[in-house]
Amino acid sequence: MHVFSLEKKIRMRRKILIPPISPAKAKRRTIVLDLDDTLTVLGDHRHATLPCYCMKAVFDRAVFHTHRRYLKEFLVFAADRFELILWTAGTKGYADVAVQKIFETVGRSDVFDHVIARDPAWFNISETSWYDKTLEQLGRPIERVIMFENAPVVVPMSNCVMVQDLLFRMREGPKTVEAAEDATLENAKYLLERWDEELDAAAFLKREASLGYLTAETFRQIQTNRPLAGYSLSILPVKPKAVAASKL
Ligand SMILES: [Mg+2]
Repeated sequence: MHVFSLEKKIRMRRKILIPPISPAKAKRRTIVLDLDDTLTVLGDHRHATLPCYCMKAVFDRAVFHTHRRYLKEFLVFAADRFELILWTAGTKGYADVAVQKIFETVGRSDVFDHVIARDPAWFNISETSWYDKTLEQLGRPIERVIMFENAPVVVPMSNCVMVQDLLFRMREGPKTVEAAEDATLENAKYLLERWDEELDAAAFLKREASLGYLTAETFRQIQTNRPLAGYSLSILPVKPKAVAASKL
């Protein structure tokens, strides 16, 4: 039996943020994707071979987004198999521009079933607390939901795969996006390919953790001193299949 804290009970009573899953996709599982530093990189990398654009339509200063390597392949794969929800703390105007640019990169405008942007229904920051992304607010069976997110302070306590943001990796050594050989979204696709239909999300993530090609201990956890629940994983931007093969 689960014992929830008062804070957890309050969070679970929060409003559902999106409509029920469409009948055509009723049998699909749900993938939640963060935007900044998960699908995109905040920063000017116009010398890279990746799509990069300025968000001047939203800001009065030059703010650039670069699409992470493998974004198109990952989204095409995921959109054809899962219900896809983009969940960003950015404003609706920001999300609208970013989503349009993602559609241009992917060549499709149907990859996201829902986009959740900043809203008081879930986004609250106070002097003592930070917002989080509570998966129960999606109104989906939690055992059929996995989230990908780069910020440990907002991740749910389970059912989440943390991704390493590219800029952090570039601070470790590689000076360009190309040199960083970012394989994060390739890893993410590889992970989802392995998610058996009948396996609930937490059990799946637990099984993957036991394979050892993903690690739950990351710089982020050390940095924030916030331990993740056992069924959250971290994905590091390394080539997945070669690493996995050595562990299997
Ligand atoms: Mg982020």
